Amino acid sequence: MAVDVGSYKKIVAELTNKNVTLVAVSKTKSAQEILDLYNLGQRDFGENYVQELVEKYEQLPKDIRWHFIGHLQSNKVKLIAPFVYLIHSVDSEKLLKEINKQSEKNNRKIDCLLQVHIAKEVTKFGFDEKELDNFFKETLSMNDKSLFKNIRIVGLMGMASFTNNMKIVKKEFQFLKSLFTKYSTFSILNSQFSILSMGMSSDYELAIEDGANMVRIGSLLFGKRDPKK
Ligand SMILES: *Cc1c(COP(=O)(O)O)cnc(C)c1O
Repeated sequence: MAVDVGSYKKIVAELTNKNVTLVAVSKTKSAQEILDLYNLGQRDFGENYVQELVEKYEQLPKDIRWHFIGHLQSNKVKLIAPFVYLIHSVDSEKLLKEINKQSEKNNRKIDCLLQVHIAKEVTKFGFDEKELDNFFKETLSMNDKSLFKNIRIVGLMGMASFTNNMKIVKKEFQFLKSLFTKYSTFSILNSQFSILSMGMSSDYELAIEDGANMVRIGSLLFGKRDPKK
């Protein structure tokens, strides 16, 4: 399989214009395919599986910014903590505590996005609106600040429903944007809260219309994934 260079260049031109960061989602794709995009200038790559990410990190150039976008189990945080650039998929306070702990062990400050559950599917992960509100207003405000001193919460991430009904998708993106706006002014976050990660191959244009400044695109760049993997 080869990367779609034409599609990559078109998307990069479009996103650069709009100041949107492209995360090239390379799960299940080979190190060579990643290098093909790297050689065209791409540096932000997104992966869903810890083991796969660690293997690719070891093989590939060290100036790649690795984004973790899949469901993350607490017991695997230590494997990516030494090098991960941004974790998009923080879906619990427990996970955040573990990231803070591993980050401290590595003398780092790891940037995190809180994943919000905006889709209809119950199988998708993330905080719901109430949990998010509790987290910001209670956990972050009341707890000892040192609890999270080795992480930075820099924004929100969401995945829309898997549907062809773009009205539903648009509503979900607008909802996430409204939460993003609401917490952007939250003083405890010290104005570091600046990333809204939403939109994939099928809906990234819509997501940008609704305020996304980071999109996660896989199949438009690398072709369809092998479902067996
Ligand atoms: C796989 C994946 C993507 C990319 O999906 P495409 O439809 O291939 O663009 C984006 N975000 C997350 C969280 C993913 O798991």
